[in-house]
Amino acid sequence: LFLSLEGIDGSGKSTQARRLADWLRAQGRDPVLTREPGGAPGAEEIRRLLVEGDPDRWSPETEILLFTAARRDHLERTIHPALATGRDVVTDRFADSTRVYQGATRGDLRALVDDIHARVIGIEPDLTLVLDMDPEVALTRGLARGSGEDRFEEFGLEFQHRLRAGFRALAAEAPGRCVLIDASRDADAIAAAIRDAVAARL
Ligand code: C5P
Repeated sequence: LFLSLEGIDGSGKSTQARRLADWLRAQGRDPVLTREPGGAPGAEEIRRLLVEGDPDRWSPETEILLFTAARRDHLERTIHPALATGRDVVTDRFADSTRVYQGATRGDLRALVDDIHARVIGIEPDLTLVLDMDPEVALTRGLARGSGEDRFEEFGLEFQHRLRAGFRALAAEAPGRCVLIDASRDADAIAAAIRDAVAARL
């Protein structure tokens, strides 16, 4: 199975991706745990171009191309080889992040994102867990790192509210693929909800 976790900054995706991979391993499966932007050596190099340095140096269009270049490398080097050998893939972010971050919130670029996706990526996860929570809760929980690698610092709460709305709209657009997970609960409850959603597809 190809599984992605999506959500705003600080929604606990990385922790839950790790827990999901651990659970799949306990089920006797052999998951690859990965992330975007990144997930392959070349893609991790592109990640540095995106998350380090002056955040304003790329235009929204250039940013879409860089995220997509990283995704293509991730797909070729990590995701496709794993799926081809029958392994599960658990990725912390995939194309939905670009649809929401670059497509829906930085001007009306969703059509461009969809077009490029269709041409050079072309696959969707079997299941996408959308971790949904109030950005203010993410902040007060200290889940948002504020490490400078995080768009909480760059754009603030209002942007995170727009992202949340974007992820919810996307989940409603693709109800067969996306499951909205209430991520305001404690980590164990969130992990259990994710396991239930995944178990239903195994
Ligand atoms: O999820 P992670 O914290 O690793 O993402 C790194 C940074 O890239 C975050 O600030 C996130 O908001 C941003 N990002 C983005 N567009 C994407 C994916 C991530 O702006 N498509």
